[in-house]
Amino acid sequence: MPKLCNKCSKNDAIYLRQYSGEFLCKKCFVKSVEYKAKRTISKFSMIKHADRVAVAVSGGKDSLALLNILKNTLRGIDPELIAITVDEGIQGYRDESLNIVKNFCSMIGVENKVVSFSDLFGISMDKAMEIRPSEKISSCSMCGTFRRRALDLLSESTGANVIATGHNLDDYVQTFLINLFAGDVERIGWTYPDPVEYGTGGLKKIKPLMEIYEKELVLYAIHTNIPFQTEECPYKDESIRSAFRVHLNNLEKIHPGIKYNAYNSILKIAKRLKESPTNIGNTTLTTTNLSTDNVISQEHRKCEVCNRDSSNKICSVCRTLNILTEGN
Ligand SMILES: [Zn+2]
Ligand SMILES: [Zn+2]
Repeated sequence: MPKLCNKCSKNDAIYLRQYSGEFLCKKCFVKSVEYKAKRTISKFSMIKHADRVAVAVSGGKDSLALLNILKNTLRGIDPELIAITVDEGIQGYRDESLNIVKNFCSMIGVENKVVSFSDLFGISMDKAMEIRPSEKISSCSMCGTFRRRALDLLSESTGANVIATGHNLDDYVQTFLINLFAGDVERIGWTYPDPVEYGTGGLKKIKPLMEIYEKELVLYAIHTNIPFQTEECPYKDESIRSAFRVHLNNLEKIHPGIKYNAYNSILKIAKRLKESPTNIGNTTLTTTNLSTDNVISQEHRKCEVCNRDSSNKICSVCRTLNILTEGN
């Protein structure tokens, strides 16, 4: 006999939320995910009335779920929404997701703007992979560096003041572990979700799904009939992130709720570190962590090449382009 939903006591449950022991029906499950995102947004004052929010939508489950949630749940705040998409130039992979995003956006009535690596940086990801010195730069770090800049530029060109990304709770905990094991203690403080303005245009970055398990976002997308790309990027490297992901998922199976507990602890640590920046974290700049430009460093600088905000003399994008063209 199927279990009844613990929330409405009417419908059959389709999901057991292991960490709380709740059985949920489809309707209550979908509502609970949307409520969680809404609560995160209000807890950290992520979106205000009349904000123009650029939602970074790749075609994967997280970003499409985010767009759907923002579209459905922010009555009263009513921000202007625009979906922004980066075409990295990965043949056979990105084309499919570009179509998924385009169709979904037109279905829910949200404008979609696309920009490509080739247009912005003069090189596609396919080409960059062909010529990169692989010992100096990993595929994901190179792509991430370009993608973050592309999202900034695209948001600025649309007049948005907020960029929303689909990072989930699993991503957040993994990022903490990556920083911890790399000795980047200071960087942990930068991950505190309180939005900080950066750049000349005063953009803010927010992660409204950061308190939701990845597994629940897959289910949310399925139960709300969101079409999403399941194929993995052909250039995905077996990074330390994948190792932490597997390890955390195994732990969660044995100890339901452990990821959520870790998330809450990390939040407290990040808050302390953000409030009192210290010298304990010597951020070492290697080819695997080139992404510090968006953080307001104590020493405010401009990149000598492109003149955008940078925590170093030359920003990560220009350094990466240099490695690709000059090999250094
Ligand atoms: Zn129910
Ligand atoms: Zn630069």
